[in-house]
Amino acid sequence: MRENISKTIKSKVPYFYDLWSSQAHSLSFRNTRSDYLRSRIMMLSSVLAVLLILWIPFDILFLTSDQSIKITFARLFLSCFFFSLALKNHQYNSLTQIQFCITLFPISLNIFYLYCSVVLDFPDSNLNYGYIYTLLPIIHVAILTILPITFKESLSLLSITAITQICTDYYAGRLFAPEYLAIYWLQSVLALMVIWSQVSKLHMLMRLYRQAILDPLTGIYNRRMLLQLGKKNMLECELKGEPFSVLLFDIDKFKRINDTWGHSVGDKVLTGFTSFVQSKIRKTDLFGRYGGEEFVLFLPDCPPDTAIKISNRMLIAIRDLKLPINIDNQSLSITTCIGISTYSENDTLASMLERADLALYKCKHSGRDCSHFHPIDLHHENDERLKIAEKISIN
Ligand code: GH3
Ligand code: MG
Ligand code: MG
Repeated sequence: MRENISKTIKSKVPYFYDLWSSQAHSLSFRNTRSDYLRSRIMMLSSVLAVLLILWIPFDILFLTSDQSIKITFARLFLSCFFFSLALKNHQYNSLTQIQFCITLFPISLNIFYLYCSVVLDFPDSNLNYGYIYTLLPIIHVAILTILPITFKESLSLLSITAITQICTDYYAGRLFAPEYLAIYWLQSVLALMVIWSQVSKLHMLMRLYRQAILDPLTGIYNRRMLLQLGKKNMLECELKGEPFSVLLFDIDKFKRINDTWGHSVGDKVLTGFTSFVQSKIRKTDLFGRYGGEEFVLFLPDCPPDTAIKISNRMLIAIRDLKLPINIDNQSLSITTCIGISTYSENDTLASMLERADLALYKCKHSGRDCSHFHPIDLHHENDERLKIAEKISIN
């Protein structure tokens, strides 16, 4: 599955749809959230496993011996289940597996509630502390508050408890009975608060994630994320046997723009330039800020001749580009140099970027506003520089 690059780049503030469903999330965010949820599941299942056992003395105190034996066995069984969930948790990698694990919480807890209801003979029970056991569904809903999940996920989890509650009340003949209306009201308010808390946590996670991966000025991927995703794209292309090219952009004489017009105009030029390049690339291409006024475009499934054609087209389009600077309705023109390289056997992302950098260096020395492709047979020309580049690990 490819990254939903354009969406991740453009949305600095999470859209409602991102909070509604995980379908719109990028693959890297899905992985990040899966890791976070995995740790939450481990914590939650361990806590529940312990709490279930700790309640056993109260069962013995409140219930008849027959009831307490039955419920104690159910508690021990459920506790073992949660302990095994906590221990096996690391085996679940994909978001779908994690979502399944989360669903096991309300399912198992509601089965336990139903079992308690049968053993304690609700609603006809004359038990003094019976109300404590009727609070179980409320507790089941409340414990899920710690999960950063979408509206859709939250509603599906809550619906499991709601359906169980409706069914038990229906069979007990007390569905919508006036004396139960207050409990329904309480449960609905609690459910709303739980959804609010879960989605707020997701919103916070999304904001922090975006701040960590995006360049604050241009809103495109920062160097760390660019290299991480670039490496992944390169390996995917290698596996599929597809060509993979890199375009390294450097704006010409950018320092002069800053010196003449000031840094804020320089910033506007950088944002104008990035929006322009973004509008010209495919959804599967990967564009990010490499540093200062240098940008990288990774082109999956793109052979060298196509990469050269693309960079020539880009050069012409950038030359014609008028970037408004909001000073006396003026606009600026810029030119760029583009260094190109294509993946060859035993390449690393660092060695590819190093070749693109060497090509860029040539552009700068041949008068700027041009592109240059660093052929594979020249790979060993600068062996020493390449060796150094190979040593720089990209995570
Ligand atoms: P060349 O044609 O050789 O690339 O020359 P250049 O002036 O573009 O290159 P140089 O490396 O000398 O200058 C790059 C400048 O980019 C220096 C730095 O102040 C500026 N710069 C880097 N990041 C930013 C930024 O975020 N905003 C602004 N306004 N300027 C930046
Ligand atoms: Mg530069
Ligand atoms: Mg420059």
